[in-house]
Amino acid sequence: MRCRAPAKINLGLTVHGRRPDGYHDLSTVFVKISLADTLVFTPAAPGTLNVCCDDPAVPCDESNLVYKAAALLQRQAPHCGVHIVLHKRIPVAAGLGGGSSDAATTLLALNRLWRLGLAREDLLSYAAQLGADVPFFLAPAVAAFGCGRGDELTPLPDPPPFALVLVKPHVAVSTAWVYQQLRLPLTARGNPTTILRDFFLSGNLAAVGAWCTNDLEEVVVRQFPVVAEAKRALRQPGVYGVSMSGSGPTVYALCPSVARARQVAAAVRSAQWTVWVCRPWRTRPTPIA
Ligand code: ATP
Repeated sequence: MRCRAPAKINLGLTVHGRRPDGYHDLSTVFVKISLADTLVFTPAAPGTLNVCCDDPAVPCDESNLVYKAAALLQRQAPHCGVHIVLHKRIPVAAGLGGGSSDAATTLLALNRLWRLGLAREDLLSYAAQLGADVPFFLAPAVAAFGCGRGDELTPLPDPPPFALVLVKPHVAVSTAWVYQQLRLPLTARGNPTTILRDFFLSGNLAAVGAWCTNDLEEVVVRQFPVVAEAKRALRQPGVYGVSMSGSGPTVYALCPSVARARQVAAAVRSAQWTVWVCRPWRTRPTPIA
């Protein structure tokens, strides 16, 4: 069984405060995008669980989120086994949710491969144990408004067509480190991400671009000035907005068309970063069982 696991971007990310469980309360609009990993699942002898990956930066042991997701399900089905090959295309520790997406795809795929018959709600409880972004990747919607840890989700209708230029500077950023550096409370103000969500709902992408601010950006830019440089480079005519995704360091430019995005991508080429052009993820949701 061969499955694709899309990356995500955060259109807007507002941090409201630290929670007693150590996580932060936030608001964000998640959008799945066309940059994706591929996972291949092959049935194996009972009790077998192997993960291998073509990216040496990704561990293949119990710390891999794919392994963790499979182990959770195998606990319920010890008579099942699987070999999993992970073809990594989503850059690691980039703010694009690659590991979380791989984990959600593993839950969906093994539920089918092993004929476990679990409902989406059952899989959601496993997803929540694996990480705050995993439930979003389990949901069939391309876009969702997330609050709480990011796992309280309201699906949003598919956006009108747009394109993105992604720029990933050659630095890796730990999400945990970014949140540790955040000085709270942030300046009191309204919630720009709910305003952005409302423009997203009305299909006004120019206004979405104007409101895509990310509260985590300041911490990342202070440590990695190349992120600010990438943002400056992306601010080109016709671009609706430029912001960082998640905890970075990837930044994106929201563009009205693939043609414009390709021009912007050509103009920002640099040895300091890698550039992709992509679109919102447009595919039928993975069947649940
Ligand atoms: P998050 O914002 O959820 O931390 P991210 O997109 O910034 O996600 P990931 O690419 O998911 O970052 O990787 C974060 C860490 O998780 C890396 O240090 C990596 O070693 C580890 N990891 C575990 N499993 C995976 C996986 N399947 N793919 C990528 N990284 C993984």
